[in-house]
Amino acid sequence: METLLGSDRFVRQPGAAGSGSEPFLRFLIEWRQGLKTVSLPEYLATGGRMPAQTAVLTVDLTEGMCHEGALASPRIARIVEPIRRLLVHAHELDVQHFLLPQDTHAPDAEEFANWPAHCVAGTIESQTVRELRALLFASQFRVFPKNSLSSAIATDLPGWLEHHPEVDQFIVTGDCTDLCVYQLAMDIRLRSHARGLDYRVTVPADCVETFHLSVEAAKEIGALPHDGELLHHLFLYHMALNGVEIVAHVD
Ligand SMILES: [Zn+2]
Repeated sequence: METLLGSDRFVRQPGAAGSGSEPFLRFLIEWRQGLKTVSLPEYLATGGRMPAQTAVLTVDLTEGMCHEGALASPRIARIVEPIRRLLVHAHELDVQHFLLPQDTHAPDAEEFANWPAHCVAGTIESQTVRELRALLFASQFRVFPKNSLSSAIATDLPGWLEHHPEVDQFIVTGDCTDLCVYQLAMDIRLRSHARGLDYRVTVPADCVETFHLSVEAAKEIGALPHDGELLHHLFLYHMALNGVEIVAHVD
């Protein structure tokens, strides 16, 4: 059977127990079900820390990803409320750093060769989602405009990290799990590895999501399909492989 890998190793062979990827996929489901909830007050006070030593990051929770435009997705709109609750709770507990890397594309962004045009600078799509803009402490949000999937290439985020060496815990939320969230969490994690910074990077699984495009729908529009469930969980797992702490929920 032809598969993505050009061989039959990816799929389970009839009668060959334990072969193929099925055992791993079963493991992945159990791993996801076993994720723990962590207490935010305990998290913030880890090792005697002050709340100002933790940053909460929310990537691409914009109008264009949630409510209108070519990339707006109902799956992603579902994480607005859990993220809003987390930010409110963090603010109540005196967290001061709310960092929002957001697509703010040039009209002729190179990325639009791979994705439909979205979140162009100056449009409603590029604005932080309305539910977060309505928060009384929204003036504390620090938005980092970006023009690619990366929150760290050609943005002010690396400079911000350099200027805040006391911040060494990062809660990463937003979308999409396998795209900008993955790039952001991995960038902070790899920065830590490269420089011996001992950063803690945590992703609450209920505060990240990705979009879904079925094989059938993708064929109709001539695009590549994107299985939201599988890619969400695979990329959560991939972050865990690299020392990103994946938790079910931060309470
Ligand atoms: Zn983009």
